[in-house]
Amino acid sequence: MPKKILITGGAGFIGSHYAQSLLDGHRNALSVTVLDKLTYAGNAKNLDEIRELPGFRFVRGSICDADLVDELVGEADEIVHFAAETHVDRSIADGAEFVRTNVLGTGTLLEAARRHGGRRFVHVSTDEVYGSIATGSWPEEHPLRPSSPYSASKAASDLLALSYHTTYGLDVVVTRCCNNLGPRQYPEKIIPLFVTRLLAGCTVPLYGTGENVREWMHVDDHVEALERVRTRGRPGEIYNIGSGVELTNRELVAALLELCDADWDRVEFVADRPGHDRRYCLDSTKIRTELGWTPRRDLRTALADTVDWYRKNDEWAA
Ligand code: NAD
Repeated sequence: MPKKILITGGAGFIGSHYAQSLLDGHRNALSVTVLDKLTYAGNAKNLDEIRELPGFRFVRGSICDADLVDELVGEADEIVHFAAETHVDRSIADGAEFVRTNVLGTGTLLEAARRHGGRRFVHVSTDEVYGSIATGSWPEEHPLRPSSPYSASKAASDLLALSYHTTYGLDVVVTRCCNNLGPRQYPEKIIPLFVTRLLAGCTVPLYGTGENVREWMHVDDHVEALERVRTRGRPGEIYNIGSGVELTNRELVAALLELCDADWDRVEFVADRPGHDRRYCLDSTKIRTELGWTPRRDLRTALADTVDWYRKNDEWAA
């Protein structure tokens, strides 16, 4: 019997790449059910390449719907949990949906997993839970100091997930990844927003002086790391997933301008985001040594490929 994987948020950016990689890599050995509410950030078109494959099923619904979640978790052997509200700026404007989805939704999934028992639960999280770091990098044991309602809701969900391991012995593994880039990311985060606007001839808004530093990774490398964690990660553990490749937003924008044939006169410096974390940097020694993972995509090529994808797929977000 194929192993049944439930992927929450699989119509979003990273979840759709993960679902596709599972069905490409393990045809016949796995079946995949995607549970996704199709919020503004989810896009049914993200599943076009796998929709007709045997072993694939899409269920439109919310991770907060306890009856639906109970049924789907009951049918699954493993759960990989991506579903979340993910945009920091939206969380600053109104955090309520972030608490509902990221905290209560995760809690609803964990409760179902506890009731049914015996299921691996991969909780996909973010470097943002650690806060901001001036120098060096965070190991997994570093205290959490989230700054935004988004990162605070993710930190809460990480702790809730880990508590189900400690209290009930649930087979939970938590991952924390740096910023991803690649095709099919909803155009509100910096790369897809800036690329789509630059390609359309518009200006782009850069926060503050653009000196904030982020670590960047192609989504394919994240997917590969998650697969190692799903199959070989140790229960109750946290795995940081970082590329070690850091860019200031200014450096990132310079690269995007070049790739989109645009100049700095298209950049508008705007008031900084409240509570804007200065720098993120993960120590990923654990996943590299324990699970043998290493990122393979070079950032420059990954950026060029991503710009190319948005250039060729200008209908995608419509
Ligand atoms: P995304 O916003 O592209 O996708 C989120 C998906 O979740 C969407 O398809 C949306 O419809 C779905 N969703 C939202 N609320 C739901 C609900 N109540 N029930 C069911 N589905 C719901 O996000 P993403 O960038 O693909 O991120 C996926 C996960 O990875 C998130 O948990 C995020 O915190 C984490 N993460 C993202 C990044 C990044 O750079 N994008 C980096 C590290 C970690």
